[in-house]
Amino acid sequence: MPRKLPAAAGPTVTISRRGADRLRDGHVWVYRSDIISADGISPGALVRVTDERGKFLGTALYSSASQIAIRMISSHEVPDLLALLRERILQAIAYRERLLSLGNAQKTDAYRVIFSEADFLPGLIVDRYNDLLSLQILTQAMDAEPVRQTVLAELTEKFHPAAIAERVDPKIRELEQLPPRPSSLLQGEKSATIFTMNGVKFRFDAFEGQKTGAFLDQRENYAAAAEYAHGEALDVFCYQGGFALHLAQKCSHVTGVDSSRPALEVADRNATLNGREIEWIEANAFDLLRDYSTAGRQYDTIVLDPPAFAKSKKTLDTALRGYKELNLRALKMLRPGGILVTCSCSYHVSPAEFMGVLTQASRDVHKTIRILENRGQAKDHPNLAVVPETAYLKCLIVNAS
Ligand code: SAH
Repeated sequence: MPRKLPAAAGPTVTISRRGADRLRDGHVWVYRSDIISADGISPGALVRVTDERGKFLGTALYSSASQIAIRMISSHEVPDLLALLRERILQAIAYRERLLSLGNAQKTDAYRVIFSEADFLPGLIVDRYNDLLSLQILTQAMDAEPVRQTVLAELTEKFHPAAIAERVDPKIRELEQLPPRPSSLLQGEKSATIFTMNGVKFRFDAFEGQKTGAFLDQRENYAAAAEYAHGEALDVFCYQGGFALHLAQKCSHVTGVDSSRPALEVADRNATLNGREIEWIEANAFDLLRDYSTAGRQYDTIVLDPPAFAKSKKTLDTALRGYKELNLRALKMLRPGGILVTCSCSYHVSPAEFMGVLTQASRDVHKTIRILENRGQAKDHPNLAVVPETAYLKCLIVNAS
């Protein structure tokens, strides 16, 4: 018999007026500096949130360690957390099912199934790579054993995956004051597979590579870039060849550049998997672009997809200088009518700042740029209007002449 717990009661956290105003605006975080009282509340607890006058604001997951002390999960009372999580997981899956069946003629079996706050499941990220699922846990609340078991059970029932892997970021566990644990298979025995994005095949190894594996957030931008790509192409910061393999569908010659040899080795195996010939160069992108542009090398299509240069507000100026340098060199090397696909995954660099950098670079090299597409992250990485932090990726596709 399902047991219905009485509503209300339970541990309560009181927050400041500033924190309450933020929540009323629709945001889902309360910082530690806005906590008035959280006495005796255990790490990861499900808590009621009230303002200083005792007015109920909603239900949240509490962290005793993070600067983000409160992550809201409902504006109502939550009598049964596990039931709510099950419901949210099903909603997140249904959202992707609708998206991926719409206008997606090209096969895709890799996408982000759950994206933390953007799916009202703060602290939980799940990616699907064909028959494998990769999971990341970022908070005390999501690390609790009953929560883990519920998540695994729900994912298993929905996807029947060959395996579910957990990728651990030791730094995040440390920040959340969670005991260390290794990356491992939580279920099943398979840790590598082949997945498909827009009809292009890639290898996936659950325990190698960066982030949760591939850069799934670029999936729609890969397809968009391929629409405009032509001639000789250069994919700078190519990692395992995401853009390069898509460009190869249209271009006469593609070169991928990255400083990571292991990434290029996977990129080369990916090219073989798709029957493509791509030239891979192991180099520092800044040095290579400087040398190539000084030598007068020319391309018809260039992709720039560097790592996040601005990890915080403090490094913004240096980051903007980095973006400027790259974009300037690339624009200089484009033949008339050439295509530049330029990305920034730094949340701290705003879309306007990024556009500003590109505009300045075009002035410096005396070129006219026309914006063909002003894009963001793929729709399986939802961008919640009230939580600006969920929007981070910028991708501009421009024509330069
Ligand atoms: N475009 C890729 C993702 C790029 S991630 C994709 O769609 O899959 C950023 C990449 O930049 C990483 O592969 C990293 O190895 C590489 N990188 C970081 N600093 C670099 C540098 N200075 N020169 C060349 N590559 C660099």
